[in-house]
Amino acid sequence: MIKALILDLDNTIFPTKTISDEVFAKVEKLMAAPGSNMSKEQLEEARMELSRTPFQKVADQFGLSEELKTKATEILNNTTYDKPIAPYKDYEMVHTIPLPKFLVTFGFVKLQQSKIDCLGVRSHFKDVFVVDPERSSKTKRDIFLDIMAKYGYDKKELLAIGDDPESEIAAAIDLGIPTYLYDPESRFKTGKVTYHEQSYKKLVKLIDEQK
Ligand SMILES: [Mg+2]
Repeated sequence: MIKALILDLDNTIFPTKTISDEVFAKVEKLMAAPGSNMSKEQLEEARMELSRTPFQKVADQFGLSEELKTKATEILNNTTYDKPIAPYKDYEMVHTIPLPKFLVTFGFVKLQQSKIDCLGVRSHFKDVFVVDPERSSKTKRDIFLDIMAKYGYDKKELLAIGDDPESEIAAAIDLGIPTYLYDPESRFKTGKVTYHEQSYKKLVKLIDEQK
């Protein structure tokens, strides 16, 4: 029986691409500057990737220089977002599920915190975990273990919901926590996940059926 939900933030509660151009504008400018040696096509591709992949991964993928990475990291460490953000339309369904929820998000702490506030969802969660992987050695797997220990849940009493098979979904699978891959754009083939859905309808049904 599922007693609590663990949610990811980016591309799980809201489509990150709605704000990523604005958030990464300065970094994209750096990448476009002479000396970065990125082609127009690469820049366009990097822009897309930044809306769904952590900056560090994108930087490595495109072979950004250490200097550029350092500069970009400094910028992003001090970037916040300050306008209202709209969640996915069907997020409301998740919000109304009467179970405790935990938000687990990794990235630049100030930026992630500001996104939570701009979305207005902080109060929907029993606890919120924001971790900067550059400053902490904790992984999502560690945080999930912390939640189980602190709140006394067994792995089978949790459901990890997210959009990234290599991040929160992999961490949950590793721990034996059931998984719900939210994939509104059908980007992934069905893999090892417990549920693979384009919306939150199935989630609502699952919880309803437990009653
Ligand atoms: Mg995500």
